[in-house]
Amino acid sequence: MDPSETLASRRDRAFHLHPSSNLAALRTEGPLVIVRGDGVHVIDEAGNRYLEGMAGLWCAGLGFSERRLAEAAYRQMLELPFYHAFSNKVAAVSAELAERIVGVAPAGLSRVFFANSGSEANDSAVKLAWYLSNAVGRPEKKKIISRRRAYHGVTVASGSLTGLPFAHGDWDLPAPRFLHTETPHHWRYAKPGESEEAYAERLAAELERLILAEGPDTVAAFFAEPVMGAGGVIVPPATYFERVQRVLTKYEVLMVADEVICGFGRTGQMFGSQTFGIRPDVLTCAKMMTSGYVPMSAMLVGDGIYRTLEQQSEKLGVFGHGFTYSGHPVAAAVGLETLRIYEERDLLAHVRRVAPVLQEGLRALADHPLVGEARGIGLIGAWELAKDRDRRESFDPKAGVGAQVVKNAQKRGAIVRVLPGDIIAFSPPLIIEAHELRELLARAEAALDETWEWVRANGLV
Ligand code: PMP
Repeated sequence: MDPSETLASRRDRAFHLHPSSNLAALRTEGPLVIVRGDGVHVIDEAGNRYLEGMAGLWCAGLGFSERRLAEAAYRQMLELPFYHAFSNKVAAVSAELAERIVGVAPAGLSRVFFANSGSEANDSAVKLAWYLSNAVGRPEKKKIISRRRAYHGVTVASGSLTGLPFAHGDWDLPAPRFLHTETPHHWRYAKPGESEEAYAERLAAELERLILAEGPDTVAAFFAEPVMGAGGVIVPPATYFERVQRVLTKYEVLMVADEVICGFGRTGQMFGSQTFGIRPDVLTCAKMMTSGYVPMSAMLVGDGIYRTLEQQSEKLGVFGHGFTYSGHPVAAAVGLETLRIYEERDLLAHVRRVAPVLQEGLRALADHPLVGEARGIGLIGAWELAKDRDRRESFDPKAGVGAQVVKNAQKRGAIVRVLPGDIIAFSPPLIIEAHELRELLARAEAALDETWEWVRANGLV
């Protein structure tokens, strides 16, 4: 045993089963134990400060020390720490948050169903699609299409929507009735010389072919993140969603926008749907809704869907779906305070002001010998590493080149994340200032340089 190992690390290694982690590496290396937050920084047990370039898991939009959120939670805990929304009851604060969210939501969304995580919100949307098909007498219309490399969660339904190998193979997913179509990543998948527009058209045609092959009467819904997050920070071609949406409308397939990452300002507008001109029938969101301070998610629907649910409820006596913590008052109070802060500080304008620092900074290294593509929008971005940029050739995944960048950045006090395919992701708190973004980029650049030396020394190129 390493005598310098801390108590927290020992406890963690002995008792904790980590989510989404390399359990074997944890056993030998132990965890990074974080004990405190300060603005866009987090601090570890040894007192090292890290600029948190990922806002945790894309969620701490207001940073890690917003007292107003803590105070809102505390006040609500004293006033009414728990109440539920089953059996026609509600905590006043949950109703207030629902109104506030509808007020900022994309046009046409008018009702909010609350849940606790992104996975639950997406599971709810899958079930909703099935339920609606039954309600309108089309019980065969049940298949769900999402995209390869999508990330929609890990529960049975949301894990089926997810289009990444780690969420499927050994977990016996996807479940039946879940299908996957192309990923809209022009740099990686377009044919030589194919324009973004032609590529978007081809993907829409591909989706149409899939719907026709399966039978339009069997396809209920299409799920998409406006910008794919955990699958690689993939920003679609400008005309992609318009073309996809045309296909969905033609075959009466619901458009479900998964705004778990994009929602609440990440792309520079309140929702990614607004940035990309998506007209969702259903929208799911979570994470920055409460700045990640307490768990909460939501599924939004429009009047048409709501009317159907009301009618069914009249027939069946109940809308038979909900969670103990749907609309939890403490989470609702934190969500409300989050939105008040957005408005008072005009956070969306701030995001639009500082986003060019991130985007230009990432693209300034597009010709770094390790970088294949630099991309992003708003305050989300990435470097996709490549062994050979022109041939779009990746490194052997086993070489762990992306993980090396993350390690080298961490050594320099910057937290970034590696996604499958050696993609280095950036998604800092929305409150980040320009000088902090420049610092984050400088540390990440130094990490890239050091990794490049390592790559050469190890004969990986
Ligand atoms: N959808 C998207 C787009 C996500 O990024 C995530 C989580 N990273 C989820 C859904 C699942 O959310 P949760 O982990 O809260 O279940």
